[in-house]
Amino acid sequence: MKYPSSTKKSKKTLMSVVTIIILVVVIAVVLFFLNNVSSKEEETQVNENGSNNVGEQGKVVNDRIPSEVTPIDIDKDLDDQPNSQTPVDNKDKDDAKDNNNSEQKENRVEKEDDNGYIVGLSLPLEPTYIDGILITNKKYPLPKSFSPGESVEARVAFEDMATAASEAGFELTAFSTYRSFEYQTTLYSRYVERDGKDNADRYSARPGYSEHQTGLAFDIGEVNREDLWLTSEFGESEAGKWLVENAHEYGFILRYPKGKELITGYMYESWHFRYLGIPVATEVYESGVTLEEYLGIN
Ligand SMILES: [Zn+2]
Repeated sequence: MKYPSSTKKSKKTLMSVVTIIILVVVIAVVLFFLNNVSSKEEETQVNENGSNNVGEQGKVVNDRIPSEVTPIDIDKDLDDQPNSQTPVDNKDKDDAKDNNNSEQKENRVEKEDDNGYIVGLSLPLEPTYIDGILITNKKYPLPKSFSPGESVEARVAFEDMATAASEAGFELTAFSTYRSFEYQTTLYSRYVERDGKDNADRYSARPGYSEHQTGLAFDIGEVNREDLWLTSEFGESEAGKWLVENAHEYGFILRYPKGKELITGYMYESWHFRYLGIPVATEVYESGVTLEEYLGIN
């Protein structure tokens, strides 16, 4: 009789083990289900806070981004600024300058060759304006198609300056102003042929890199003193000295001063003046810096 009794007992034990397992599974399923439901409710709440558009979660997230990530908009405005001629107050100008500088520094990782040009840089499709000022040097070339002709405003300013100079006893003339891309090509090739590329690069710009292509650069000399044209001696003449001291009052600056070759990319040119308008020319003159330093791109 021991046998049946023991079989009955073990059957009972098995039954209760199975029951416990089933209970545990059921509890686990219920807990899992409850957990799932509560997290779904949380998600729904987040969506409702963000927008009424609860159904499309992806769309809701996208809708919220623009109002929160305003810096993107600010950057864009500043990027646009240099190209616009709209006057801005000084603080905005400084902000724009800083923004531009950091952007341009990022672009300046390219290697320079021995003559200061950036290796492999091709001519751009648009000219570069910083704070509304057109900049042209060995790092910021002009498009081949940029051909504004001589600036009327700069010519008027030059004539005013020449009148004032003549009252001071000097007869000034602008013997070279606007040069087209094509003309600069001819000129530069001629200089390279005569003096070699390295020498030519020190006093003549490669096509697309000449400030004369802007129509804002004026090479100035004294009438009947052609012997001093394009020489550093002109800077030591009375007329040359008068120009350096007074040009800003008419909107011009001496563009390539002595000892700044590494910054401007050109040796001292006592005759080359750049029109900037009276306010900017005066600021540059009074601060005693080059245009590159003034714009923060040296
Ligand atoms: Zn010049």
